[in-house]
Amino acid sequence: MDTDRARELLTIELADLDERARFAERTRAETTGDENAEGALGQHPGDYGSEVANSMDTELLVDTVADQRRAVQDALTRLEEGRYGRCAVCGKEIDDERLEARPEVPTCREHADTPVVA
Ligand SMILES: [Zn+2]
Repeated sequence: MDTDRARELLTIELADLDERARFAERTRAETTGDENAEGALGQHPGDYGSEVANSMDTELLVDTVADQRRAVQDALTRLEEGRYGRCAVCGKEIDDERLEARPEVPTCREHADTPVVA
């Protein structure tokens, strides 16, 4: 994968994650009953249980999006440093098909489940 293409994919993904982060933060503010949040005023859902479940889902979404943003930013750093596209475990080139699907991955298919210490 050439670096221009990688940078393009990562930049698009980062913009998309920013969008999702804003959405998740907004939803979290609403579901946790923050009175300063838009749309929270005057809402008193009768079903307390489902409200709690929703706010837990939103919490998870906020965390997940934050993790993904970090992964994309790490990948952009690797790109700047000329380390992009190589497996962080074995150093082999990661195939283009894998990078097209998930441009932020730090490992090859073989090491997909290996935790990477940044
Ligand atoms: Zn590997």
